Amino acid sequence: MTATLIDGKAVAARLRAGLATRIAGLGWAPGLVVVRVGEDPASGVYVRNKDKAAREAGFASRTRHLPEATTEAELLAEIAALNADPAVDGILVQLPLPAHIRAEAAIEAVDPAKDVDGFHPVNAGRLASGLPGLVPCTPRGAMHLLAGAGATLRGARAIVIGRSQIVGRPMAQLLLGADCTVTIAHSRTADLPGECRRADIVVAAVGRPEMVRGDWIKPGAVVIDVGINRLESGKLVGDVAFTEALPHARAITPVPGGVGPMTIACLLENTLEAALARRGA
Ligand code: NDP
Repeated sequence: MTATLIDGKAVAARLRAGLATRIAGLGWAPGLVVVRVGEDPASGVYVRNKDKAAREAGFASRTRHLPEATTEAELLAEIAALNADPAVDGILVQLPLPAHIRAEAAIEAVDPAKDVDGFHPVNAGRLASGLPGLVPCTPRGAMHLLAGAGATLRGARAIVIGRSQIVGRPMAQLLLGADCTVTIAHSRTADLPGECRRADIVVAAVGRPEMVRGDWIKPGAVVIDVGINRLESGKLVGDVAFTEALPHARAITPVPGGVGPMTIACLLENTLEAALARRGA
């Protein structure tokens, strides 16, 4: 058996095209503002990619780039102004922020109805309570990929390796909401290989190159590799030893080209959803 590759690029392209069609039919453009503070170089690339994808799909997208010396109070005032602006449907504060600004303060300042990253405690709480709300983009993208791969979720045993606020925890909540029996593993998990071997669905969101070995994968499992790790050679690899996993898994996401492309597509999906909800459309 060799696993089917889950083509995140293709799924993301279809999702973006679908959003573009829906926006073209609206007659108005949902507004997205990405707030960037300082000069973190990787953030510069992410912000440009988000802006480009948003414009291509027909969103009214702009970037608010504030200087490194911006104080926390100034950033919060900027976010308050965006909260109050009726043309703005989605606000994303690009992380990391400079060290003198508390990320939680910025996240909590965003109106939960415009929180297209889904990081606000109100949205995290709604997800944990099984209520509708804005869901973090990467786990949302992973759920699309599972659906596209035809994975049976109801009653399946799922393991999420990693418990971060932005990936692991919301991912586990989404799988629970889809009737999986969910194990959340982390750095203190006693027998990670053993836990993993019981799982029909494996989601790895750790940040350790190729940590999940092929013989940890139950035959026929579906593997979603969220990890993006750059080796010294410059090569990008996931958290799963991809080649080793191929003979075990039924389907697996490659890195790059798996979960990565879904994150921006789901940001756009969240922005359209936020716009429709806010405008009662
Ligand atoms: P964090 O560093 O916030 O969390 C990593 C998690 O992995 C923690 O919960 C940690 O456990 C757990 N962990 C660390 N070491 C081990 C171990 N040896 N065994 C088991 N669990 C372990 O990372 P993120 O959630 O932000 O990101 C995870 C990965 O996903 C990264 O590679 C990141 O680059 C990638 N990523 C990709 C995205 C995309 O595709 N667009 C978006 C976001 C992230 P503990 O809590 O105990 O410390």
